[in-house]
Amino acid sequence: MMLEVEDIHTYYGESRALSGVSLAVDEGETVCLLGRNGAGKTTTLSSVVGIVPPSQGTVRFRGEDITRRPAHAITRMGICLVPEDRRIFGDLSVAENLEVALYRGPRQATWSLERVFDEFPVIAEFKDRPGKTLSGGEQQMLAIARALVGQPELLLLDEPSEGLAPVIVHQIGRLLASLSASTTILFTDQNLAFALKHAQRCYILAKGEVVYEGPAATLREDPELQERYLSVA
Ligand code: ATP
Repeated sequence: MMLEVEDIHTYYGESRALSGVSLAVDEGETVCLLGRNGAGKTTTLSSVVGIVPPSQGTVRFRGEDITRRPAHAITRMGICLVPEDRRIFGDLSVAENLEVALYRGPRQATWSLERVFDEFPVIAEFKDRPGKTLSGGEQQMLAIARALVGQPELLLLDEPSEGLAPVIVHQIGRLLASLSASTTILFTDQNLAFALKHAQRCYILAKGEVVYEGPAATLREDPELQERYLSVA
């Protein structure tokens, strides 16, 4: 397994957000984390990358215990997160946003700045503009590109389609589909159709616990299961 999360408990101060979450992602898989607002999806990703370390339980990457490593060390090992709020540096140019995230280290680099400019024409076009002048969809592309120049072996995406117009969601979907051919991906999304289209397997979280795990196809064909854990009503 590339990523193994075993029985993690994560708190914000006194308040418990995760109560014994376990999940695993194998090399080459695209896995989705689903659940209603507040179920613990973001916290799970934050726990994996060391932003909000779990107080109990273990996170392993390629068999190595990374549970209490600092976030920057985890990123350098090859787990790169595209956060929900994108965290684009608004006053830096698009190119500078990428340069600050460019991985320089012993792991093999497959995403050079040149390759990003080739494969993301919109980023090449706007490379000298301040990040804050980009639209929501362009910022999401930049956030993904910035994670890629970190040379991820495991790419984590938190709600990549959130707040974007359908045509942009479609573009993000195409990008995800092409990335999934070469990268292992764990992502969260509120858009069930989008998630089930792009994931092979999914986990559903409710109140900080995993309540379902299975193939995306099974969940797609089971409206009762979708209703039970995912409907907002
Ligand atoms: P959303 O889709 O709304 O982001 P989520 O499934 O990602 O939901 P989390 O953001 O992980 O859920 O939240 C899990 C729980 O932790 C919720 O009860 C939330 O209120 C709480 N929580 C999240 N962030 C914080 C924080 N910074 N401080 C305190 N509590 C938090």
